[in-house]
Amino acid sequence: MNMARAEVGSKRRVRAALAGAAVLAVAFGLSEYWLYVVNLGLIYAVVAGSLVILTGWTGQVSLAQASFMGISAYVVVALHHHYGIPFVFGAPVAVLATVPFTVIVGFVALRLSGFHLAAATVAFALAVQRFVFQFRELTGGSSGYAAPPLRLFGWDLDAGRSFFFVLAAVAAVLAVAAWRLRSSSVGRAWAAIRTSERAARSLGIDVARYKLAAFVVSGVVAGIGGVLYAVLLERLSPLTFDVGPSVLILSIALVGGIDHLAGALIGGMAYAFTPELARAAGISGNWVPFMLAAAMLTVIALAPAGVAGLLTRRSRRDEPVASGDIDPAALDELAARWGARPPAPSVVVDGVTVRFGGLTAVSDLSVTVPPATIVGLIGPNGAGKSTCLNVLTGFARPTRGTVHVGDRDVTAVPPEGRAAAGLARTFQTPLLFTTETVERNLLMAAHLHSARGLVGAVLRTRPTRHSERASRDEAACVLRALGLGGFARQPVGTLPFGTERLVEVARCLMTRPQVLLLDEPAAGLSGHETDRLARLVAALRDRLGITVVLVEHDIELVMALADRVDVLDFGRLIASGAPDEVQTHPEVRRAYLGVAEDDGQASREVAHAAG
Ligand code: ADP
Ligand code: MG
Repeated sequence: MNMARAEVGSKRRVRAALAGAAVLAVAFGLSEYWLYVVNLGLIYAVVAGSLVILTGWTGQVSLAQASFMGISAYVVVALHHHYGIPFVFGAPVAVLATVPFTVIVGFVALRLSGFHLAAATVAFALAVQRFVFQFRELTGGSSGYAAPPLRLFGWDLDAGRSFFFVLAAVAAVLAVAAWRLRSSSVGRAWAAIRTSERAARSLGIDVARYKLAAFVVSGVVAGIGGVLYAVLLERLSPLTFDVGPSVLILSIALVGGIDHLAGALIGGMAYAFTPELARAAGISGNWVPFMLAAAMLTVIALAPAGVAGLLTRRSRRDEPVASGDIDPAALDELAARWGARPPAPSVVVDGVTVRFGGLTAVSDLSVTVPPATIVGLIGPNGAGKSTCLNVLTGFARPTRGTVHVGDRDVTAVPPEGRAAAGLARTFQTPLLFTTETVERNLLMAAHLHSARGLVGAVLRTRPTRHSERASRDEAACVLRALGLGGFARQPVGTLPFGTERLVEVARCLMTRPQVLLLDEPAAGLSGHETDRLARLVAALRDRLGITVVLVEHDIELVMALADRVDVLDFGRLIASGAPDEVQTHPEVRRAYLGVAEDDGQASREVAHAAG
């Protein structure tokens, strides 16, 4: 463990040294002219980096990045022109000025996604541009005001080599900050949102807050690019910050590789250098757009992950790993990690009805799930079992009735709040973060107990580092407990289905649940895997005091495991009781078999009918 850490540390030092050497080589090896091109490329890289955060990592689209650049660029210039405020003081104000605008776009993104969101950001960009033209006195209109000189302690830093050093430093600081965010609870929340907002919410991640945070962080980064661009351009024109440039920035990021910070640098440099290299090679400027377009098309068609995606594609060693067995000792260790906690609350559903249009999925349901028990919930397809779980976990709002966890009325509490109240769930179709490793899937679910916010993540404060390490250790413990230790570094998408199902349960355990709701966890499992699941579920109740609500089609499994079985049919509770009582209940047999008579074999047939 320590050796691995030391290795990572020395690799990092080597990389930093290489980067430093590259900066010096560029600074002293290139002419003033080519340094200008590099500087331009660095600014593009910063703005493309803002899209790596927003689009690559969080899955949100924005065609307004150039507008955020424009806002900060105009503010820094106007502050200087009208009030004589020097760049070093104006720039932070200008960058902060983007925040309210990023919040506006962020709020729009809470309601819209995909194409609709893209269209909305275009509308925003058009509005900003109109605004700039409108207020000539403030912005200098189409001719623009001159940018303030960038001067620090009497040094002129706004051109050539010195500006290059400024840009390299800014880009490096931003890259380190962004990287720290990515590998923190914030970055994991973003990645969770990108893959599945439903799954993210079920793990207690406040999707709205983290989406907004992504827009603000990304907009601020674009704003930093904007003030630097103002210095480089010397004179601003509203056209610079039009929708067109925003589309180009997105293309740059895509070509470079929108999942990677390195992709932003590659894309930014490629975009700055192509016209200059063409000119140096004696190619007419008319051909440059055509060349760029052809290059973009080629890269995007052949390498959807961009150039950086090609470079970082790992030769993944898919060593066949066998899953182990449930490890009771590791479960006890997990209980010790969780420490003393209040006993699981009972969950009370009272008079709940759920209607979808004309269809009544759940009808006047009242059940109590007692603490630290296993309650089986069975019924034919379409009986309303999944809807029940949705009501319990906040994904469906009952038309009538209430849900209580302990004494607390949670009927109106959204899914992320239910997770915080101790409820965790799996989905009938597993909702895992398939491109992420098993370990990262688990860490994403440690959110409720380990999140330390943006500032803690960037500064790597002590509590942040501590909670990161604690989550990692806890994830390792959970994986050991479920016999999944060997899979930690495997992307979830490469796992066999049975293992995937188990990973989803492991992920739930990272929320430290008191009540676990499983939606057909045995579907698609082999007999051996089902046995292991049964032992796990019993152990969760017995060793961790977790209440389990088990929706299952495998009646034998339910009858063997459950302390109580509830039977739903057409949304109504038709029977509830001990497994052997329920098995012989006439209405249950009718629901499953469509017959009322007892032919002596009924209970066995109940067991087979749905499985
Ligand atoms: P089960 O899990 O027992 O198979 P469900 O709870 O998934 O049943 O579904 C119960 C009924 O509600 C079904 O008829 C289903 O088509 C309907 N239903 C479930 N979810 C929705 C929804 N979001 N919109 C409309 N109808 C739904
Ligand atoms: Mg279902």
